[in-house]
Amino acid sequence: MKEVFNFSAGPAMLPKEVMLKAQAEFTNWRDLGCSVMEVSHRGKDFIEIAAKAEQDLRDLLSVPSNYHVLFTHGGGRGQFAAVPLNLSNPNDTSLHLVSGSWSKGAVTEANKYNKAVVVGDVSEKDGLQYVAPPALSDIDQSAAYYHFCPNETVDGIAYDWLPEAGNVPLVSDMSSTILSQPLDVAKHGVIYAGAQKNIGPSGLSVVIVRDDLVGKARKETPSIFDYALAAKSDSMYNTPPTFSWYLAGLVFEWLKDMGGVNAMAKRNGEKAALLYSAIDSSDFYSSKVHPDNRSKMNVPFHLANPALDSLFLEQSQAAGLLALKGHRSVGGMRASIYNAMPVEGIVALVEFMREFERVNG
Ligand SMILES: *Cc1c(COP(=O)(O)O)cnc(C)c1O
Repeated sequence: MKEVFNFSAGPAMLPKEVMLKAQAEFTNWRDLGCSVMEVSHRGKDFIEIAAKAEQDLRDLLSVPSNYHVLFTHGGGRGQFAAVPLNLSNPNDTSLHLVSGSWSKGAVTEANKYNKAVVVGDVSEKDGLQYVAPPALSDIDQSAAYYHFCPNETVDGIAYDWLPEAGNVPLVSDMSSTILSQPLDVAKHGVIYAGAQKNIGPSGLSVVIVRDDLVGKARKETPSIFDYALAAKSDSMYNTPPTFSWYLAGLVFEWLKDMGGVNAMAKRNGEKAALLYSAIDSSDFYSSKVHPDNRSKMNVPFHLANPALDSLFLEQSQAAGLLALKGHRSVGGMRASIYNAMPVEGIVALVEFMREFERVNG
């Protein structure tokens, strides 16, 4: 099989070492003669790896002891509903910084459960997409929470500052950026992430929630979304997505072996710099995102002549560079370069881009 590099936005590639380990023990896990996905989540073997996965995640992100770490169903969108159900009442206000399509989706869902107010949106600077930090004076201190998404997977828009919230709990959708760089958990009320970008297979989401925000779910909250029930039952109120949890655990072990989130941040910075410099150094390619807001995880770019898009996609796929088509709402190309993408993948993509320009430019 020839080597390919998979730039899918999600579900996304997993580290090769992790895939090989899962393959090696697929049918005979821990010498039990069966697969990890065939054993009870309440058995000692599964409980052991579930607890280790949680501890490894806590170590990687230095999660303070007054935070619960939950492993749950429902993906990122499940949390769009779980957050308002757990943190607000129908007459409460939730604040939202909109920086792209996912944070916008969170507003629509929150509006079913409370009064969602947008405190900031994508603007323009130098003709490029730009996100300005909302002023603290615009943050209603009686709001139930303040939701933001520091890395917009579809739009490739990101920011490295934390919104100023005063005493309002910050809720961060980190689906496409968690574990890509160090993070100050203590500044957040809730951090959540669907697994299929930077953690493991789809079907799992991780929620990191501060103690005092647990136990306040409104009474009609579905039990499987109630943070207090999840916390009390070690995320086993109902059958958790066991295989995804197991694989997430392998990814956390891999991350520790790689040197943790500091090492990842360094590598991710180098990868993104390589790709953006290829885009910037040519008129054949362009980015619509202001340099201050360029994502290191999802890199959308456009060909000056969109008539060449389909040829670019056809030839890149043939060259082993998969899933470069941009989201339908943005068009053009998008390279998703999460933790699992090695530097060699970026080098191969940049070489392909140069050659494609040489022939077609
Ligand atoms: C993918 C994604 C989601 C949605 O995740 P699902 O698991 O499909 O519900 C939400 N937010 C962000 C930032 C994402 O990248």
